[in-house]
Amino acid sequence: ETAPAFLSVWGMKAYYGESYIVQDISFNVHEGEILALLGRNGAGKTTTLRAIARMDTPQVNHGEIWLDHQPLHNMKSHEASAAGIGLVPEDRCIIPGLTVEENLQLAQIAPPIGWSLDRLYELFPRLKERRRQEGVTLSGGEQQMLAVARALARDIKVLLLDEPYEGLAPVIVDEIEKTLRIIKEQGITTILVEQNAVRALELADRCIILDTGGIAFDGTASEVLENESLRAEYLAI
Ligand code: ATP
Repeated sequence: ETAPAFLSVWGMKAYYGESYIVQDISFNVHEGEILALLGRNGAGKTTTLRAIARMDTPQVNHGEIWLDHQPLHNMKSHEASAAGIGLVPEDRCIIPGLTVEENLQLAQIAPPIGWSLDRLYELFPRLKERRRQEGVTLSGGEQQMLAVARALARDIKVLLLDEPYEGLAPVIVDEIEKTLRIIKEQGITTILVEQNAVRALELADRCIILDTGGIAFDGTASEVLENESLRAEYLAI
């Protein structure tokens, strides 16, 4: 409880064009923690991840974002990436025409270099088996693994995952969940955006629920699982 926050978002407002999507949110994430960022469709989850990763949109015109004593709020996305932010977008963005291994090697060109190929293949044996296959021809689950591996190929401190379980069979979700636990043991901090709230809460330490761009709840994952009215109101579970 008293450990200083590792990633800190303070008073952040984010907007596209004329419309504010994230109103004025503040929250902290501790090092090595898995935070589930949940809420209804359109609540602003993706917008929050993109704002932290300093993508060109949304624009952030108020508030501060700090990672391990470094201010992110004035950075461009490549600078936030070099500072240790790894965003895995919902569409996974595997590069067409490149094999699995080439996708990983391309990520390793950008310093600071993170996990080695050997270490990545140890975590994802399936990717090793398929390393000569074109990345975009992998199954959905394998593509998700490749997208996470590619983030780890850079030296990241924080993994931002946007709906990693979407469209995947429960056994594949099990496999990815197991991998995320190992990544946590390596000290990496994760923010997990998921529609599959139950699965996300089983994995997460803490949970933030967004509602129309504001924070409706900030507490432990078990508090959410035990709170029927909270679950019914915001998560429909
Ligand atoms: P979902 O689970 O549906 O992806 P979300 O919580 O991730 O929901 P966001 O994707 O952050 O929600 O979207 C929040 C709001 O911002 C939505 O009303 C959406 O229409 C709007 N929005 C998202 N991207 C843009 C954009 N590029 N330009 C304008 N509005 C946008």
